Amino acid sequence: MFKEDLETLKKENLFRILRCVESAQGPRFILEAKEVINMCSNNYLGLANHPRLKESAKKAIEKYGIGSGASRLVSGNNILYKELEDRIASFKETESALVFTSGYTANIGILQALSKKIDVIFPDRLNHASIVDGIILSRIDFKRYPHKDMKVLEDMLSNEGTDKRKLIVTDTVFSMDGDIAPMPEIVELAKKFDAMVMMDEAHATGVLGKSGRGAVELFDLKGRLEVQMGTFSKAFGGFGAFVCGSKELIEFLINTARSFIYTTALPPSVLAANITSIELVKNEPELRKRLWENMEYFKRGLLSYKFDILESRTPIIPILLGDNELTMNFSKMLLEEGIFIQGIRPPTVPKGSARLRITVIATHTREDLDKALEAIVKVAKKLGIK
Ligand code: PMP
Repeated sequence: MFKEDLETLKKENLFRILRCVESAQGPRFILEAKEVINMCSNNYLGLANHPRLKESAKKAIEKYGIGSGASRLVSGNNILYKELEDRIASFKETESALVFTSGYTANIGILQALSKKIDVIFPDRLNHASIVDGIILSRIDFKRYPHKDMKVLEDMLSNEGTDKRKLIVTDTVFSMDGDIAPMPEIVELAKKFDAMVMMDEAHATGVLGKSGRGAVELFDLKGRLEVQMGTFSKAFGGFGAFVCGSKELIEFLINTARSFIYTTALPPSVLAANITSIELVKNEPELRKRLWENMEYFKRGLLSYKFDILESRTPIIPILLGDNELTMNFSKMLLEEGIFIQGIRPPTVPKGSARLRITVIATHTREDLDKALEAIVKVAKKLGIK
């Protein structure tokens, strides 16, 4: 029944496989019995295996056990949720916050709920799949603007009737390109055309801004947009997601976001680890400093060999290759050299823009980065690219 589809995927070099990780997440880990340098996790600050997060999780397990028993509106609303939501709202400097089970469920839930208050959505063409799926689920009109193209967005907004209720939605750091959305311009356009703004800070939280508060801090946009979504699964090293905004928005989501209402609450251990993680992100700025130093060091190396890293401004660094087969061969040959970097193909990225997606983290050593760069150059030469 599925054979033909699978054969087609294989023929087009789009077939995906799962690889087994046999140790904790870190700058290096054991992948299928072999130690490799891990350059494809979103564990930007290296917190996924941090002793303080583990300690908090262990204590929560001792006190509250493993499972959460039910959804939050039934009997799963552990008291740690309150602490976590208070802390993330305070970190993001908003009135209120709501924790979701994951970034994916947050985006689909927020967009489905907001569809009751919105007539048309304007998403960036390169937004994450969870935003795309949320828009499909919302079943309302949407008009995608070309990536970061403010001129087209302005035209689209001005062509829309003034009676239409509008929402602009964008990733702030684009997950496959590593570039940053022009948030000040987006917020200005929203003001001019009376639109709401929703930003997905999944890859920006903990990474951008002096204190890691995200693009909202980097661009000084506090209080100037309605919906700030982010995740605990990336720089925070944990799991789950949040939306920060007004108290009214949060109460509205509690009452209308189906992916919030109809799913079991997160395990208490995860909530406890996330609480500790916010403290670390806030109080240990040297982690972020190391992340940015590593990123700049590695980028300089790649650029000295003239790799096309698009407009990357963050620790997500693509190497654009274009062809699916070439990308997957490159990734496979890197793995043979002990470097784990995934190839990214359509539909995750547009057709013809397959790439390696490299992520640098704070805990990579200079030796890790040098070895990775050396391997990338060696494989590129073998493949006739350099
Ligand atoms: N938004 C963006 C921009 C993402 O990159 C991701 C995950 N990679 C998500 C949302 C979904 O978050 P989660 O993995 O917590 O479901």
